[in-house]
Amino acid sequence: MPLLEVDNITVQYPKQKTKALDNVSFSLIQGQALGVVGESGCGKSTLIRAILQLQAYQGKVTWKDQLLEFSKKQQKKQFYQQVQLIFQDPLDALNPRLTIAQIIAEPLLNLSTKHLTRGEVLNKTENVLEQVGLDSKILNRYPHEFSGGQCQRIGIARAMIVEPELLVCDEPVSALDVSVQAQIMNVLLDLKEYKQLSLIFVSHDLSIVRHISDHVLVMYQGKLVEIGETEQIYHQPKHKYTQNLLGACPRI
Ligand code: ADP
Repeated sequence: MPLLEVDNITVQYPKQKTKALDNVSFSLIQGQALGVVGESGCGKSTLIRAILQLQAYQGKVTWKDQLLEFSKKQQKKQFYQQVQLIFQDPLDALNPRLTIAQIIAEPLLNLSTKHLTRGEVLNKTENVLEQVGLDSKILNRYPHEFSGGQCQRIGIARAMIVEPELLVCDEPVSALDVSVQAQIMNVLLDLKEYKQLSLIFVSHDLSIVRHISDHVLVMYQGKLVEIGETEQIYHQPKHKYTQNLLGACPRI
């Protein structure tokens, strides 16, 4: 059974002639990473928003055999206990007025169905900090005291505290220096391996996507042009658009 099934989803924004997403279908198996690539404006963010039920769409999104319905609040809450988002700009994504401890614990306090003691929350917070390679000494400090890479680690810890099964990563390393990008990619790869975490990894950087993805989905003008195993896509791209995209990427 796939963890996530996306079935013919279509999004048309008001007053737009073309569809931002046009009949996109794919499925994701537990423990696997799906890279989503394509030039700016091809519909990557819209796809993420639709999957996360933040954007109305036509078609079906099924999570563990359960059809998700955009309007069902309770269902969304349960869904967000299992699916978390990593943002592009790490500092921007963290509330500057909260301590690191408060930032990381927030999703747990919002989404947990049972009452947790302070000790339990602290335990879980320290545990996720360790998973992302940060020291618990930072818990009383504020986001502006940290580098971009450290903020992204904090963002990942915040997502991991609810023990999700899927992380949706929207250009998670594009705002970071190249050396820091590699460190964050390693954090994500470790989580994938040791926690059996599934990933949807959106990026315009094809070499980064190759590094982490089991499968790659190529989008162009709202349409899925090609999907396949990563090495097959990179060595034998079938579609002309994919060939051009790979040809335009100097790092490959
Ligand atoms: P990407 O993430 O690949 O850059 P987007 O999903 O942001 O692409 O955008 C896909 C298309 O939808 C683009 O043509 C964009 O201009 C349009 N679009 C995105 N968001 C909106 C919106 N809120 N209203 C109208 N058009 C939008």
